[in-house]
Amino acid sequence: MDCIFCKIAAGQVPSVKVYEDEKVLAFLDIGPLSDGHTLVIPKKHYVKIHECPGEVLASVAAVLPKIAAAVLKGTNADGYNVMCNNGRASGQLVEHIHFHIIPRKAGDGVFT
Ligand code: 5GP
Ligand code: ZN
Repeated sequence: MDCIFCKIAAGQVPSVKVYEDEKVLAFLDIGPLSDGHTLVIPKKHYVKIHECPGEVLASVAAVLPKIAAAVLKGTNADGYNVMCNNGRASGQLVEHIHFHIIPRKAGDGVFT
């Protein structure tokens, strides 16, 4: 399957890893909206949340707090957005479920 995030998960394409376990990988976004912009993916390929088994999403949710804490600490951010685009109409470009963690500072204008 020609999926860039599957290739990253398999180590066939390089990435800057933030976290990894058997089921989940977090790595820096190649086109960050802010410093430390991180993507968290299940290693198994699913395109959208409603197509993904709950237990796969649960494995992501289980480690999201510690990844978010590490991103916050590493960037000294004031806050962060967690975003998951589902479908082209929502802005999803890479068709492998991913959660964006976007570090924010007050008044940074990231979404303006
Ligand atoms: P989407 O628009 O699908 O929600 O977000 C896809 C994200 O993946 C974008 O923020 C984009 O910069 C990032 N991205 C696309 N290709 C690569 C890649 O090959 N490596 C990394 N690290 N990030 C990627
Ligand atoms: Zn994939």
